[in-house]
Amino acid sequence: MTVAIYPGTFDPITYGHMDIVKRAAGLFDQVIVAVAAYSGKQTLFSVPERVTLIQQALAGLSQVTVLAFDNLLVDFAKVQQASIIIRGLRAVSDLDYEFQLARMNQQLADGLETLFLMPAEQYAYLSSTLIREVARLHGDIDAFVHPAVASAMRTKFKE
Ligand code: ADP
Repeated sequence: MTVAIYPGTFDPITYGHMDIVKRAAGLFDQVIVAVAAYSGKQTLFSVPERVTLIQQALAGLSQVTVLAFDNLLVDFAKVQQASIIIRGLRAVSDLDYEFQLARMNQQLADGLETLFLMPAEQYAYLSSTLIREVARLHGDIDAFVHPAVASAMRTKFKE
């Protein structure tokens, strides 16, 4: 059984992330969406909130599980017996950072392979950062995120 792990901040999960999870689920027996508790980013949603939103957005995908982690990704992957790290590439501009990260993880745990997947073209411009900005200014985000996420964002920005 091949287990793939898709780590990220997911603040919040977007249709772009969901597209990557679905592609990974088509390739591997089990996909773990791993929510980073410490990504060096100040987040809008707490870890439990992000986990719940991902579970709601991906309900129905039986081989997908959602877990939070607060240690080194390669250590977490090992405990979960994952042999593949999934990352998404939207554009060439993602590559610089992703390449550095993949090289570091290769150095830390050789044999744990990073696999890059591309979302469908219509999701290539989506980023959690931009969607947070649109939501903050009360713009319409329904085309970018699952209804449960859109609703949670509207609640956040009413607070
Ligand atoms: P991180 O802080 O680890 O970059 P993100 O939640 O921003 O966490 O992204 C997680 C992964 O998903 C990254 O590999 C990122 O490039 C990818 N990703 C982000 N948005 C999209 C999108 N719209 N389409 C495909 N992949 C995406």
